[in-house]
Amino acid sequence: MANFNTHLTVAIGASAGAALVAVNFHVITVTDAPWMVAFGAIGGMLPDIDSGNSTPIKLFFTTLAIITLLTVIQVFKNNYPAYILLLMAAAAYLIIRYGALNLFNRFTSHRGIFHSVLTAVFFCLLMVCIACYLLRWDILHSWLSGLFIGFGFIIHLLLDEIYSVDLSNKRMKKSFGTALKLYSYKNMTTTALMAACTLALAWITPQPQPLIKSWQAQNSQYLSAAKSPVIKTAIKKLSQK
Ligand SMILES: [Zn+2]
Repeated sequence: MANFNTHLTVAIGASAGAALVAVNFHVITVTDAPWMVAFGAIGGMLPDIDSGNSTPIKLFFTTLAIITLLTVIQVFKNNYPAYILLLMAAAAYLIIRYGALNLFNRFTSHRGIFHSVLTAVFFCLLMVCIACYLLRWDILHSWLSGLFIGFGFIIHLLLDEIYSVDLSNKRMKKSFGTALKLYSYKNMTTTALMAACTLALAWITPQPQPLIKSWQAQNSQYLSAAKSPVIKTAIKKLSQK
């Protein structure tokens, strides 16, 4: 199994490559690229949030706990004296960081539903919705951030599968086929739950029209360039040689 650093490095490398291609095709600008690489890196860490006490899961729940703590302070700051507010915020932090994490660990198994293409689609759509409805980004950038999360996610699953091939002995390890799968074959309850959540998200996700349009605009630009007389004569000369 690839460790945290390997996953992070490969996800960043692959996302940087994908961002470079996107910049080249004028789908994103150079200033967008670092953001897309960051989303790819996050996607590359997400699948391992199901592995007990791994670094990504701790990071994920610590961030969630801090957000909850800040929300509690923001919502109740005018209703309670400072010391009670602090106690409430501390309690909220502890409940999420330790209580919710324990609960999550109890209900998920490593390389279960979180190592599947279905969950990659779920996180892709989730990011599109967060970017579009909460952060109020335009649809093109919302979709791009979602796609980079999904891309990093799939890269993680691929890397896990590559690591399950024992090259020195030329044999497959037991873990082969447990990372890159469409859904969790062993646990149909979690699969059904994840499928329902993904469908619900798909229902509210904005249509990717702006992304398709920008892609088509690029394609037609390349096609018209190929039809230009200069390129035609260049192709003719090449074929005569
Ligand atoms: Zn993994």
